[in-house]
Amino acid sequence: VTANLFRIVLAIAALAAALPAAAKDRVRLRGPIAQGALVFGYTAPGTAVSVDGRTLRVTKRGRFVFGIGRDRKTPVALALAYPDGTRETRDLKVRPRKWRIQRITGVPERLVTPPPEVMARLEREYKLMVDARKVDSGRTDWTGKPIWPARGRITGVFGSQRVYNGKPRAYHSGVDVGIGRGTPVRAPLGGVVTLTHEGMYFAGKSVVIDHGYGVNSTFIHLSKILVKPGQRVRKGEVVGLSGMTGRATGPHLHWSLAWFQTRVDPQPVVGPMPRPKTRSKQGAAQRSK
Ligand SMILES: [Zn+2]
Repeated sequence: VTANLFRIVLAIAALAAALPAAAKDRVRLRGPIAQGALVFGYTAPGTAVSVDGRTLRVTKRGRFVFGIGRDRKTPVALALAYPDGTRETRDLKVRPRKWRIQRITGVPERLVTPPPEVMARLEREYKLMVDARKVDSGRTDWTGKPIWPARGRITGVFGSQRVYNGKPRAYHSGVDVGIGRGTPVRAPLGGVVTLTHEGMYFAGKSVVIDHGYGVNSTFIHLSKILVKPGQRVRKGEVVGLSGMTGRATGPHLHWSLAWFQTRVDPQPVVGPMPRPKTRSKQGAAQRSK
């Protein structure tokens, strides 16, 4: 009896190993399949991958990336054509998230409801941002592990519904880190600067960095920009100084992460905020005097 049982267990184990392996192990997804998520995929090199009908770039090692919109409700259609000629499609169910409401008061009224004479300017600046996020380069900086561009308290989270002076406005497109004016802002990943602007109506001094495959970072409200368009930046390199230019009620860093135009939540991608750097021994010694 024991021997038979053992044989049955072996047979079931063999089946379990053989059957799903064909379907399951050929593509692996990291990152929650949730609203506002950046999803990292791993598959066989040479596989053709598309999401919602859009062909994705795939690295030599079979890696790809895509974003899921903050308000996405329908499943994401992932299609793979493997090098051996087989095909697979998956409808990825998107987990909904609850978004906070953030009320902000004391904002100058012209920044809540812009006067008609700035509409042309707003459209121009909007288009600059859209064009910067259209960049589709083959660089693979996005495969690295990102760092926080600045360390501090998180004062605004991705996706929250913003209410300025009692008026509902667009959702918050990034994460805010509360830091003093003039704090260095670092590239979270390597890349190429695709846009700098010295004074957008809402965003103030702004920088956009392309990390490749459509993944991009935007920093706004800066007090100073230290890079130029076309400039290659390494991960950790200072690209500007924090500030409160544009529509901001205090100095902070606003970081948006996106896959093309689709804004995603930077926090699950970058991980928890590291603790503030401990003061140097010299500093501690001076304090104890
Ligand atoms: Zn912000």
